[in-house]
Amino acid sequence: MRILITGGAGFLGSHLCERLLREGNQVICLDNLFTGRKCNIAHLLDHPEFELVRHDVTDPFKFEVDQIYNLACPASPTHYQHNPIKTIKTSVLGTLHCLGLAKRTNARVFQASTSEVYGDPEIHPQTEAYKGSVNPIGIRACYDEGKRCAETLCFDYHRQHHIDIRVGRIFNTYGPRMLPDDGRVVSNFIVQALRGADLTLYGDGSQTRSFCYVDDLIEGFIRLMNHPRLTGPINLGNPAEFTILQLAQRILAKTHSPSKIIFLPLPADDPKQRCPDISLAHSELGWNPTVSLDTGLDTTIGYFRKLLLT
Ligand code: NAD
Ligand code: UDP
Repeated sequence: MRILITGGAGFLGSHLCERLLREGNQVICLDNLFTGRKCNIAHLLDHPEFELVRHDVTDPFKFEVDQIYNLACPASPTHYQHNPIKTIKTSVLGTLHCLGLAKRTNARVFQASTSEVYGDPEIHPQTEAYKGSVNPIGIRACYDEGKRCAETLCFDYHRQHHIDIRVGRIFNTYGPRMLPDDGRVVSNFIVQALRGADLTLYGDGSQTRSFCYVDDLIEGFIRLMNHPRLTGPINLGNPAEFTILQLAQRILAKTHSPSKIIFLPLPADDPKQRCPDISLAHSELGWNPTVSLDTGLDTTIGYFRKLLLT
């Protein structure tokens, strides 16, 4: 198949490019390299079936493709709050352009949605039926509402134009190729621990997240995209839940770091607890994460150790 991946030079996108090439597909990676890096896909540039197109999804684009994975959007709060208007334009216009392209080419669209559509959730764990609790005027809204609107566009194109859509709600995912200055918690803590710097814990550390290793998530992407009829939305994440303090302590132990934990103010609207209910992904896709936090952290720590040495 000929497959377009927007945001293909980013953390998740680069793993997806690799996986789809390995399976014999042609891959067009479209990225403006805002948070993506050429080095993430440098090893693919000579592959005869791979093409990198430097382009911004807020401007229209045309390709002849069978499938579109729409991943373009900064995902770390630090990066998506850097230029919030650009973030919401990226989600809304980027998705609109993907759906328009799908309408013309008859391609199937996978939308990388997020657990952030649930906001600071009032139910736990979060099921797909939960409609969410998002502050529409807060500092996270550019991302949360952009992604919610992107889901709306997917379902309106599906109902109005019969576009084949797959909406995956991704929960916190980590692994090699996150940027060292990405700002998300796993990469921040590992890099701080390896450098002997203080671990910056926001709030009292009692807030929870559930961390999925990248390889597990990519398997979920492929299964959802190639399901014959399921539109989603469907949660994709690892239901093993940890407090952020537990994560910090685990990373300190694994890296044998002398670093200390310092407590800083909790950013506005930071969700207090987050854990996916993945019954639907399990029953419909036969999907379950297989990599434990311990194993995934070991691999990710190994990656950053090597990166920081070079
Ligand atoms: P990332 O920042 O590494 O990747 C995003 C990619 O999109 C980057 O390569 C960036 O350069 C590109 N991009 C950003 N704006 C663009 C634009 N206007 N035009 C073209 N390219 C643009 O983040 P990631 O973790 O790989 O996330 C990928 C997708 O998955 C995002 O849509 C994100 O919202 C979603 N997601 C990720 C997670 C996670 O935990 N990793 C969780 C929920 C949702
Ligand atoms: N966090 C933290 N220190 C950091 C980065 C993040 O304590 O250096 C906290 C953050 O406040 C949040 C959790 O870790 O409660 C997860 O943050 P991240 O930015 O990784 O993802 P998100 O909040 O989008 O789930």
